[in-house]
Amino acid sequence: QMTRSVRERLRAGAPLAGISPSGSPGVKGEKQAVEQTAALAPTLADLQEQLFASGKTGSTQRVLLVLQSMDAGGKDGAVKHVVGQMNPAGLSIVSFGAPTKAELKHDFLWRIQQQVPAPGRVGVFNRSHYEDVLIVKVHQLVAAEELESRYDRINAWEAELALQGVALVKVFLHLSYDEQKARLLARLDDPTKHWKVGPADVTERARWHDYQAAYAAVLERCNPDGAPWYVVPADHKWYRDWAITQLLVETLTDLHLTWPEPEGLDLAAIRTQLLAT
Ligand code: AMP
Ligand code: MG
Repeated sequence: QMTRSVRERLRAGAPLAGISPSGSPGVKGEKQAVEQTAALAPTLADLQEQLFASGKTGSTQRVLLVLQSMDAGGKDGAVKHVVGQMNPAGLSIVSFGAPTKAELKHDFLWRIQQQVPAPGRVGVFNRSHYEDVLIVKVHQLVAAEELESRYDRINAWEAELALQGVALVKVFLHLSYDEQKARLLARLDDPTKHWKVGPADVTERARWHDYQAAYAAVLERCNPDGAPWYVVPADHKWYRDWAITQLLVETLTDLHLTWPEPEGLDLAAIRTQLLAT
């Protein structure tokens, strides 16, 4: 039976307006999604450990999950629930907020380059260099020519990463306007979430259409086969978790990882020596 991979299914290409944020392509519903996500968790953890072991024995392979979305799109939840299924020792998780004065003195990729995961690691960017063509475009924070040049520079930089063994998984959590409102309102009712609330929730939401257009430009201009975007419908958290788990498992499986057998390691000799102690 032919089953399309989740990567094929969610690969960016069609206009965003035609993709339902409340859809669940590839899975029947919440029950099946939750079951399949749980069933895949040990596979994800094993693959990550194989990646980590490979990094310790000379491989340059690593994975970089890039998470982008509007506010309340579920990036933090994806880190907690999907990335949290892997061993923290092999993870390198970074959140990018507004650049500091010192960071602004450098090229926009300068602070990003410093956070590229080391060989063997699964890196996560919670927001990323894409903010430099998203919020920066919406608020016109740089000159038009500078902004225009960034798409190509991002593509060149990501192509270089690929040569260095970085498998990119770029995820756009596609949230609806109504679901964002519901989540932002729910935060106001929950004292444990007030720390996430800010005036920007309202001001950025007011620019919803500008952001969708900025995302559309990113999905069109920075989407080569070597560094693809995936559009993950994100109104249902159970679908978000299912989809990102699948994307990571498919990507890691594609690396053809094995448990490394270090060259010249004489297990028999070491066994004999240990037994003699
Ligand atoms: P949060 O993810 O809620 O912690 O918010 C981080 C904020 O930093 C968001 O409003 C982002 O848009 C903003 N941000 C991230 N990267 C940049 C950037 N390169 N330039 C300007 N603002 C940024
Ligand atoms: Mg926020």
